[in-house]
Amino acid sequence: MNSPHKAGFVSIVGKPNVGKSTLMNKLIGENLSITTPKAQTTRHRIMGILNGDDFQIVYSDTPGILEPKYALHEAMMNYVKVSLEDADVILLVVEYGEKYDATAYDRFKHLKAPILLLINKVDKAPKAGRNDVINHWKNNLPAKMVLPVSAYTGESTDKIFPALLELMPEHPPYFPKDELTNRSERFFASEIIREKIFKNYNQEIPYSTEVGIEDFKNEEAILKIRATIFVERDSQKGIVIGKAGSSLKKVGTEARADMELFFGKKVFLETHVKVATDWRKQKDKLRMFGYLE
Ligand code: GDP
Ligand code: MG
Repeated sequence: MNSPHKAGFVSIVGKPNVGKSTLMNKLIGENLSITTPKAQTTRHRIMGILNGDDFQIVYSDTPGILEPKYALHEAMMNYVKVSLEDADVILLVVEYGEKYDATAYDRFKHLKAPILLLINKVDKAPKAGRNDVINHWKNNLPAKMVLPVSAYTGESTDKIFPALLELMPEHPPYFPKDELTNRSERFFASEIIREKIFKNYNQEIPYSTEVGIEDFKNEEAILKIRATIFVERDSQKGIVIGKAGSSLKKVGTEARADMELFFGKKVFLETHVKVATDWRKQKDKLRMFGYLE
């Protein structure tokens, strides 16, 4: 007899830069969510779906928990809130060495969904003292399980899936079994470009940038993509383009290489830079970029 089908939503949440996106990619075995050394890389809720014959786990990668400074941040924190409300299980990711902080973590004290707390980046930590760190979190939060892991090296990440499956309710699949995500190909094209922007520029540029896909033509032998990089101010336009176009060219070359891997075919990528004045503060522009309903 077949075992009953299990399905549910797992929300991956935590502060910026603790390794949430790296972890989701590890759990689904695909590089779906962009990861960079800078905080606030992830701006949307991105679902990664793991399918098996008798289970479907819908992971949600979310933006890091922060105090909102812009309308953009408010939209980002709303994704976190909604994702906590929908969750069957919460994967709360913290970093080794981090301490309990009531402002960020008190909201996890009274949730209905069970919490699996992951202490990430243990590859950077000594083996001694791990129990104290585990107890610190156990004393502060009602977690079902506290597990030190490394999303980067894969240490103990194999223990996460069985623990999650144990907590999944019996339920038919929510999505068709061949679906990997809730996001479109255009979305991933824009995210790949954003990742290269985060990696190639410093200070405010990555945070001031949004990417729009104007054209996405899937032809037989080649994928033709036309993208616009929006910045907040005219002065940022020159920085993004660089001397004789060199910086923009580098971003384009790196993005195209990753797109060819991601989409599994040849890509022709054209990029332009435009100013969308103060878009992070303006509701109409946030709506246009898909952050608000
Ligand atoms: P997010 O903001 O929580 O989504 O974090 P990311 O997944 O983008 O990762 C932030 C940074 O931490 C990146 O530079 C990752 O390579 C790094 N990172 C993620 N997991 C680990 C880990 O287990 N160990 C170490 N040493 N670095 C990690
Ligand atoms: Mg992220």
